[in-house]
Amino acid sequence: MDLNFSEKHRAFQAEVREFIRRHGPASPKTGGGRKRPDRKTLDWQRLLIEHGYAGRTIPREYGGYGAAPDVLEAAIIAEEFGRANVHPGIMNQGISMLVPTLLEVGTREQCERWVRPTIRGEIIWCQGYSEPEAGSDLASVRTRAVVEDGHFVVNGHKIWTSSAHYADMMFLLCRTEPDKPKHEGLSYLLLSMRTPGIEVRPLRTMTGRAEFNEVFFTDVRVPLDQIVMGRGHGWHVANITLKHERMGIGDAGKLTHRLQRLVELLRATKVDGVPLIAAAEFRSRLLRLQGEVLAWRAHNLRLLTDQARGEDPGLRRLIVKYGGTVLGHRLSALAVDALGAEGLTALSQGEDAQDDDAANWNNDYLYDIGLLIGGGTSNIQRNIIGERGLGLPREPRVPGTGGRGA
Ligand SMILES: Cc1cc2nc3c(=O)[nH]c(=O)nc-3n(C[C@H](O)[C@H](O)[C@H](O)COP(=O)(O)OP(=O)(O)OC[C@H]3O[C@@H](n4cnc5c(N)ncnc54)[C@H](O)[C@@H]3O)c2cc1C
Repeated sequence: MDLNFSEKHRAFQAEVREFIRRHGPASPKTGGGRKRPDRKTLDWQRLLIEHGYAGRTIPREYGGYGAAPDVLEAAIIAEEFGRANVHPGIMNQGISMLVPTLLEVGTREQCERWVRPTIRGEIIWCQGYSEPEAGSDLASVRTRAVVEDGHFVVNGHKIWTSSAHYADMMFLLCRTEPDKPKHEGLSYLLLSMRTPGIEVRPLRTMTGRAEFNEVFFTDVRVPLDQIVMGRGHGWHVANITLKHERMGIGDAGKLTHRLQRLVELLRATKVDGVPLIAAAEFRSRLLRLQGEVLAWRAHNLRLLTDQARGEDPGLRRLIVKYGGTVLGHRLSALAVDALGAEGLTALSQGEDAQDDDAANWNNDYLYDIGLLIGGGTSNIQRNIIGERGLGLPREPRVPGTGGRGA
């Protein structure tokens, strides 16, 4: 791997730095995702798209910047924005999961209708996959859609639906062909959360916030053209979305940023006048984590290279979600240990805790446990890595279990 920039990329780096110098002061505060973007963030997102720092490779006809994929440019943007602590653009399930799915298998009309407002942050999506009896064994979903009077009519119940309490739209996995084998009986629908018959009930997590929801459907009517691919192709489409979800969850940029915050915390936190970064136990844990984050960044560069060459990274892609979430959780665990009692008191602050550093670390620590589960649990990821990546024998199938995305 040659880590030196060519003249072209050095010039690009200078261009990004100049953008940050001129516009950085208008950036919204970084972090604080998982809510509807405010006006300032929406304006910032538009500016980023205009200059090619968000929606960079999305075709212009769909509202993106239309640049050819270039792994080094992508890495330079992430690096420079991260270093300057400037908002890197909105990241949510619509932008990181649905948009790439539509670009891969959606129709032209679907891309024209939904990609532009989604990447601008104007339409917020939620993911309607999990049900009380279908989590890891996702293909067992029971929410039904039948065709009546030129519409799909949906009835059923979803659970753990992040952002449904403020989302405009949902991408929904449901059963349309009950007589076919379970993986072939599913369809992937796009529906407005304002459709009559949808009831959203928030669920409070141990972070103290209502981050996800139960969603109930009673005779919810969805136009027939709001299906991605055709009836019975839902499993295939859902797995394309899951692939993008898992790549996003283990993202190296976020880990690098978190490591920087951790270093600052260990410098600023003192016991008997000595900063924790100088205390042997904290120092050795930090150094180990720092090494692993660096390795993760190198891994990310390899994946970007595969992507630019149009090659399937195989095993290299399969380890991203598992490895990235475990590492992220260990970083926040060290921060919580460093905060000691102060960290623990932040637990009870719930919704008000947002701008408090200790509470933010605690929130990350608790939320990260959720990330080990969401998008396919660590156990399921290990199964997938073993079976699909390393070619180990398949685990015995037990009725009622499955393997999300398997
Ligand atoms: C923070 C968070 C956000 C989420 N957001 C969404 C969302 O937006 N939309 C959505 O649809 N879902 C969402 N989910 C749900 C998530 O995808 C499911 O929780 C997950 O797939 C696991 O399903 P389950 O909860 O039904 O657990 P189960 O499938 O019941 O699993 C229970 C335990 O058994 C283990 N297990 C199950 N099967 C196997 C097996 N074959 N081999 C080994 N171990 C196994 C699991 O690893 C787990 O430890 C979210 C979850 C979290 C925590």
